[in-house]
Amino acid sequence: MTFRILLLVVLSLAGGCAREIGRPNVILISMDTTRADHLGVYGYERETTPNLSRLAGEGVVFEQAYTQAPWTVASHMSVFTSLYPPVHKVAHLTPQSATVKLLPELLHDAGYSTAGFVAPVLDGYGFAKGFDHYAHPHRYRSAEIMIHQALEWLAGDPNKPALRGQPFFIFLHLFDPHHTYDPPWPFDTAFLSSYRENILELSASHPFTQEKDLSPDELFEVVGLYDGEIAYTDWALGRFFDELKELGVYDNTLIALMGDHGEGFLEHGLMNHGNSVYEELGRIPLILRFPDGRFRGRRVKSPVRLIDLTPTILDYLREGQPVFSQGLSLLAGIERDEPGTDPVFTYVGYSESIRDGSWKLIRNPPYRTKMIPRSAKTNYELFDLANDPEEKYNLAAENPEEVERLARAMERMDEANQEIGDRINAELDVQPMELTEEQKERLRALGYIQ
Ligand SMILES: [Zn+2]
Repeated sequence: MTFRILLLVVLSLAGGCAREIGRPNVILISMDTTRADHLGVYGYERETTPNLSRLAGEGVVFEQAYTQAPWTVASHMSVFTSLYPPVHKVAHLTPQSATVKLLPELLHDAGYSTAGFVAPVLDGYGFAKGFDHYAHPHRYRSAEIMIHQALEWLAGDPNKPALRGQPFFIFLHLFDPHHTYDPPWPFDTAFLSSYRENILELSASHPFTQEKDLSPDELFEVVGLYDGEIAYTDWALGRFFDELKELGVYDNTLIALMGDHGEGFLEHGLMNHGNSVYEELGRIPLILRFPDGRFRGRRVKSPVRLIDLTPTILDYLREGQPVFSQGLSLLAGIERDEPGTDPVFTYVGYSESIRDGSWKLIRNPPYRTKMIPRSAKTNYELFDLANDPEEKYNLAAENPEEVERLARAMERMDEANQEIGDRINAELDVQPMELTEEQKERLRALGYIQ
């Protein structure tokens, strides 16, 4: 008895003297061009991502997470601003990013040490704002090199504030799964049925938007290379997580892993991305692994959005929310598995969608582009994702009331976007941003602009 009381006293003293655990760190990892259904943790038959499966087991998996834009720059800007693309206007090349505060700025203001490691396509547009360390990249680098740079920033200097208790934020933008698909050994042949020299060439040369005359065999090999890129990135991330454990910072770090958009493999006659809002482009992986084991092993089934990510991170850290925000914190709802009750919108200029419950309406505006020929007037496609997750059966003709209801909701959203955009313009001194020739060239090379 006496011994037990003594033990309790010693334990409580030890507790009282223990160094207070610092505020959590945040690492946001964006895997470019990664569609949810090509990850083992999302039910893919190939185990492409054993390390992400482990991460998911320690956190929350959002089974129905959606990007707000199926291309890199606009998607990331929606993440960082918590605004829909028609509001942040990166797609119109007059981004609001110069004036509204981005996630890294908000964390920097809150006392975080911040570092961004991004692919060249994200250079400019204001993405560098709020980073203490932001290397302006001039070429695409592998996940290993990016991770090495992040670790060097974190641990290179033993007096680094981040390792002495100052919380840090790292943004890691891993570009490997983006076309072209040329994973390093042994991932280059890991998912090929028979390695063929011309597959790499084929993968490198397929046009951006048009249906290529690929045989099913060739398509299988191209997808195998894409899966190899995802598997390679997962392998590199596994090593990254091990290093974070070695440094003693893993446990107290919120790790958010997202895809910025998916990739088409002719499901709707299109390859690549940036050219539709179908599920293969819209649905992305989203995993949140909280430091304290909170929500461990949960899977959230209701639809959520990338614009919800910044409000969720800030809510968890108990920091202030963005002044202008269209997203919502998912934190309170994770417990009940009912976050994301708002409809989900995705925009790509020549095609837009709303998802509400299991219904998804796609609105195709009445103009033609060189890339996607359209009819002379607005046409709608309606899908019931509960029964038709691959969007094979357009139910618009037989459900005019549902089309009408969702089309009205889209129009109300157009007005809401206009309204919040006007408010931002009125309250902030918005200067249109002119893209540099280098930025335009990069967007052209990726097929985003003509
Ligand atoms: Zn991307």
